[in-house]
Amino acid sequence: MSKLNRAWHEAHPMPPNPTLDQRIAWHLDHSAHCGCRPIPRLILEELARRGIEPPAPAA
Ligand SMILES: [Zn+2]
Repeated sequence: MSKLNRAWHEAHPMPPNPTLDQRIAWHLDHSAHCGCRPIPRLILEELARRGIEPPAPAA
């Protein structure tokens, strides 16, 4: 499996001007399907604030 899951990305573009909730949802979904880039620190911090366990990155 390639590191960039091109099919997933084509099916799941980041919404334009995403809200924080949309960014969090996108990154959670992304990390489960594609490991092309890590979850940004801002998102990890917000997950921690909300008591959500960050997923292990897809290898
Ligand atoms: Zn990706």
